Amino acid sequence: MPETARIKSSSSFISQGLPIDLRGKRAFIAGVADDNGYGWAIAQSLAAAGAEILVGTWVPALNIFETSLRRGKFDESRKLPDGSLMEITKVYPLDAVYDSPEDVPDDVKANKRYAGSSNWTVKEVAETVKNDFGTIDILVHSLANGPEVKSPLLETSRKGYLAAVSASSYSFISLLQHFLPIMNPGGSTISLTYIASERTIPGYGGGMSSAKAALESDTRVLAYEAGRRGKIRVNTISAGPLGSRAAKAIGFIEKIIEYSYVNAPLQKELLAEEVGNTAAFLASPLASAITGSTIYVDNGLNTMGLALDSPTLST
Ligand code: NAD
Repeated sequence: MPETARIKSSSSFISQGLPIDLRGKRAFIAGVADDNGYGWAIAQSLAAAGAEILVGTWVPALNIFETSLRRGKFDESRKLPDGSLMEITKVYPLDAVYDSPEDVPDDVKANKRYAGSSNWTVKEVAETVKNDFGTIDILVHSLANGPEVKSPLLETSRKGYLAAVSASSYSFISLLQHFLPIMNPGGSTISLTYIASERTIPGYGGGMSSAKAALESDTRVLAYEAGRRGKIRVNTISAGPLGSRAAKAIGFIEKIIEYSYVNAPLQKELLAEEVGNTAAFLASPLASAITGSTIYVDNGLNTMGLALDSPTLST
């Protein structure tokens, strides 16, 4: 190649960068009910990269989320880097604890927070998405619930433990099971996990630590199964602490954020956007050989073996 041509092609490569381009891809993000959590941040990053956004919102939170969205309450947080606003093409009511209508108990069916919505079990949502759009490319699981999260594991009931695993781990298996048939080959799935799966975090109780351990193990097994069956990648992001609605319900998130700031290798605030951008990378062809992985987005806190702010160290 002549010298000038070589220079030209390399400089045009540089000016184009290495973009995350998700134009033409469609994402379904389960677990968005406000603009504070990781699900919203992931939607933002995927939208910034050009993906079409569908979200699944927990049925009891649906009304307030849709009203807030319509009234412009989220407009500031909908802003994308190019100045446009993120569009959510459709919001689907979802309760990921129920796989199909036969599983829904009568008291839930009769509950007024559920009565106004329909087709919100995992199977029905996947069917509705199929009818609406045919296929998706990206599936995100950004939801968790542990009714006894404030109880130590030693004091957790069987019911509470199984509820945590049902809402926070099996829900991912169910989503993948039902969405896999409508996922385009080369597609990507991402869930959110937490370091309490592998290190003891007192206060993250009720079986939530067990649920996250299951989610990470399932990530590996499902990566194999979905990879062989549909050429789909399965990864999970182990995220550092964020003051989301779910995290605030646990009760000590501000302290955990402070602990992370003081003790992590990178002493900076962890932005939800950093998790969102990692999800966009994982969803993109740039991550085409990454599957079955737990990716840490936590300013490196998981690598530390010593709490630098421990009073013991100052004596
Ligand atoms: P969040 O409140 O934004 O998200 C949790 C969502 O789960 C909510 O929208 C809630 O409505 C939904 N949900 C609960 N039960 C559901 C059900 N049965 N069906 C459908 N949706 C249901 O809070 P977040 O902290 O951003 O949580 C998102 C994910 O990130 C969770 O998996 C969480 O464990 C994980 N995570 C959070 C942190 C943190 O510090 N916030 C750290 C690591 C991992």
